[in-house]
Amino acid sequence: MHTRSRKPKKNDQEYNAFNLRRYRKNNPEKQKAIRRKNDKLYKERHKDKVRAGIILRRATAKGTIIRQPCRVCGNVNSHGHHKDYSKPLNVDWLCDKHHKEEHRNNIEKH
Ligand SMILES: [Zn+2]
Ligand SMILES: [Zn+2]
Repeated sequence: MHTRSRKPKKNDQEYNAFNLRRYRKNNPEKQKAIRRKNDKLYKERHKDKVRAGIILRRATAKGTIIRQPCRVCGNVNSHGHHKDYSKPLNVDWLCDKHHKEEHRNNIEKH
């Protein structure tokens, strides 16, 4: 009869595999937590901007506000540009290109 020298090794592997699984399982959680924290920080720092964005999105979903094509070139792929976050529904509809141009003239707002 041979001594089963392999068995403890196999157990080690199983144990290591278990640890690895646990590590992999814990890690995305940690990263998720970091992301959540960053997201929270972002929202706190840009409270008005985030709030205005949410209100505008809700209004467009409800149909209170109808998405307009870019006011400069008529591109339908436009997004609402806030001139004033305290007036979330008061936006300029601009395509990506003209939105960026607008921001060059007015760096502060989005
Ligand atoms: Zn445009
Ligand atoms: Zn903007």
